[in-house]
Amino acid sequence: MFLSDQPQQNFFGFRGSGARQSSSRRFFFSAALLLLSLALCLGGCRRQDPSAQISDIGFYFDTVVELRLNGTDDQSLIDECFDKMKEYEALLSRTREGSDVWRINHSAGEPVEVSDDTAALIALAQKYYELSDGAFDITVAPYLTIWDFPNNPGKVPAAASLAAARIHVGLPLLRLEGNTVTLDDPRASIDLGGIAKGYIADRLKEYLAGKGVTSGYINLGGNMLAIGTKPGGVPWNIGIRRPFGEASDTITTVKIDGLSVVTSGPYERYFEKDGTIYHHILNPTDGYPVQNGLSSVTILSRSSADGDALSTSCFVLGLERGMELIESLDGIEALFITDDEELHYSSGFPKE
Ligand code: ADP
Ligand code: MG
Repeated sequence: MFLSDQPQQNFFGFRGSGARQSSSRRFFFSAALLLLSLALCLGGCRRQDPSAQISDIGFYFDTVVELRLNGTDDQSLIDECFDKMKEYEALLSRTREGSDVWRINHSAGEPVEVSDDTAALIALAQKYYELSDGAFDITVAPYLTIWDFPNNPGKVPAAASLAAARIHVGLPLLRLEGNTVTLDDPRASIDLGGIAKGYIADRLKEYLAGKGVTSGYINLGGNMLAIGTKPGGVPWNIGIRRPFGEASDTITTVKIDGLSVVTSGPYERYFEKDGTIYHHILNPTDGYPVQNGLSSVTILSRSSADGDALSTSCFVLGLERGMELIESLDGIEALFITDDEELHYSSGFPKE
């Protein structure tokens, strides 16, 4: 095509004018363009192949994670994402010795310097603590230690131990000044499990977008963040799981373009005893698993960190207060599923 006399768009965005050049100059330019196009192809053509697609599965944050990228076959993008997940895990895990969160929880009330990511996540957690009227509270960690999900084989803790933990719970016990975190109660501790996956998904999407990826998705254990649409502008069709159903059993689906879909539900980590389901989403006021007639909350949002924090928040708030919160926020929609499998949609939810 570079030998054509027709003016055409070249790689630098201006129109060449081969037809008006002398034949020797034309030959020189044609040869140069051919070489240039070959060089560009070696370096980039494979990556720009619109029909290419790559995907991979890993295990991070105690869950299965999946990446899918369309329009590229550059495996190093996926490798880099997995490396980033490993780094985030080493930074944000509550149980990993030396992580930022571990250092905060073992600081005995002394100030701790944390990374920009940890500080940003804690600031976001503070925002959702305020917005949810304390329902979303990362200082529920003392209760989580007592419950010990997912290792707990089915033992309900003594009421007295949860009651004793209560005075060490409450986000005002934590101070964040720049990158310095101080727990005013040395026995307080934090857990970022209700928000970290969403935050990490947002960072991975930013990285991939910066590398020119325009289609794909990041699935961190059901925490789904789409990059654009499928090839050809077809929206992603995301299945929302039937609570307590098989992983493949979807109760409904939602079509999205570049959005995040995050679901919180007790069926992720729970045990059943004497007809009661004990699960990992806890009421900050008493340390018991939330029992309010909800079996899942799904949030649709642009940012997955927002979706993650809100799905946990709304699960704790319940149908009425949760829906009120969602309706007060711009650009956020929700689906609440109650124990009787009724579907309750927010007013702008793109229903089937
Ligand atoms: P999942 O991690 O299964 O995707 P969620 O996003 O709903 O589900 O987060 C649940 C996790 O959030 C719990 O495992 C725990 O780490 C943490 N958590 C539990 N209760 C609360 C709460 N009231 N506020 C903030 N975080 C919580
Ligand atoms: Mg969450």
